[in-house]
Amino acid sequence: MAAASHQPTCMNKAPHYATQQKRPRAAEKREWGVIKASEHSKNTVNPIRKIVDSLNVPHNPEKEPIRLNLGDPTVLGNLPPSDVAVQAMEDVIRGHKFDGYGPAVGAQCAREAVAKKFTHPNAPITADDVILASGCSHALEMAIVAIADPGENILVPNPGFPLYTTLCKPNGIETLSYNLKMEHGGIVDLVHLESLINDKTRAIIVNNPSNPTGVVFTKEHLEEILRLAYKHKLPIIADEIYGDLTYDGATFHPMATLSPQVPIISCDGIAKRYLVPGWRLGWVIVHDRFGALTEVKQGMVALSMKIVGPCALVQGALPRILQDTPQSFFDHIKEVLSANANAVYKSLSRIPGLKPLKPQGAMYMMIGFDDEIYGEETKLMQDLIREESVICLPGSAFNSPNWFRLVLTYPLEVTEEACERISEFCLRRLKLSKAYGPLKNTEKDDDLDSCGQDNEDSSCLESEDNN
Ligand SMILES: *Cc1c(COP(=O)(O)O)cnc(C)c1O
Repeated sequence: MAAASHQPTCMNKAPHYATQQKRPRAAEKREWGVIKASEHSKNTVNPIRKIVDSLNVPHNPEKEPIRLNLGDPTVLGNLPPSDVAVQAMEDVIRGHKFDGYGPAVGAQCAREAVAKKFTHPNAPITADDVILASGCSHALEMAIVAIADPGENILVPNPGFPLYTTLCKPNGIETLSYNLKMEHGGIVDLVHLESLINDKTRAIIVNNPSNPTGVVFTKEHLEEILRLAYKHKLPIIADEIYGDLTYDGATFHPMATLSPQVPIISCDGIAKRYLVPGWRLGWVIVHDRFGALTEVKQGMVALSMKIVGPCALVQGALPRILQDTPQSFFDHIKEVLSANANAVYKSLSRIPGLKPLKPQGAMYMMIGFDDEIYGEETKLMQDLIREESVICLPGSAFNSPNWFRLVLTYPLEVTEEACERISEFCLRRLKLSKAYGPLKNTEKDDDLDSCGQDNEDSSCLESEDNN
């Protein structure tokens, strides 16, 4: 024993240990201080949180609230998932073949199912080009983090899905917003987009069909974007989560199927078209043209190890969900969306100073308004809740002041009722502004702090409305 304690290694350690004991140690402090959060977590912010919180004002107790702000098609229960999907999940749970770990990039059968569903003569893919993710959000994160370093930038649409910035910012990746021409059908302002490109630009995110506008880009327009990407040798991250969820004659063209051929990372998932956002399953498809994405693809494979793949049960159900969901399921969703879009368009385009932008895809539409008549948008949306119990999302959530977004997934009667209330509200405003002059800027800064009190029914706003 004595010999052992005099081994050189112990001798070397002993004095070090002694000096260490003299220093004050965290464990000896009497009180708990607040432990600081990391910079990364503090820089992870959802820019629309504050705006959603600003809607937390009491609604009119005489009127049932209608929550057209929630980007979740499951909230009212009128659009349930397909029986195929539910049955597939049930069988997978009972079958016990997907209780364990699978490959981080996803189960082979599930990757094959994605490849089989989305391969195209112009853009052939195999299971090797597919990496599964925990929702399209995670697919986007892998694509972004695999392609850009701190100090570099990615181009994103404006108005656009706020998550892109949430994903980039904590990684030190800058987002540069290119404009959608909201007064001209919501298409990309190509001149503006090109003006933003610099030597730190790593990719262009294109979201088609678009959230929040519901606009579906034509083949020709997508090809114009591709020509720019080709010219500047920039890959495209295509957020195609709404895919062929289009209506009223619009056709969806996956970017990878068009020319000129550009390296494309397509991000997608089952959340929206299959009406199961809570199931958290998405994927990236890497269209590695000219070998340009070989390294980035390896990078995404590495990143997939962080969560060891999405929920295995949903992976197990994916082949049947993709193969067996009947067309009638999608047709029904499209009918609901189309009926809602047309009802809103017809009703609100009659109101002076309102300019609805006609959508043909996704699940939303944007209504522009004249701020000379209706004033500042957060205040306007708050008053709409106070007076009519209709909740819409102010466009500032998407960097688009003087617009608001509403969802088109509700039963038609509910949407029609909402439109009647919005119309009456606007007509009252119109009278006021005629009598007292423009409302513009009069109460502009009575916004984001005055809310949150006295609302016994805030549950409508608790839901994470990130979408
Ligand atoms: C809803 C949405 C997503 C996120 O999809 P998840 O699969 O739920 O993560 C991504 N992009 C856009 C544009 C969306 O609207």
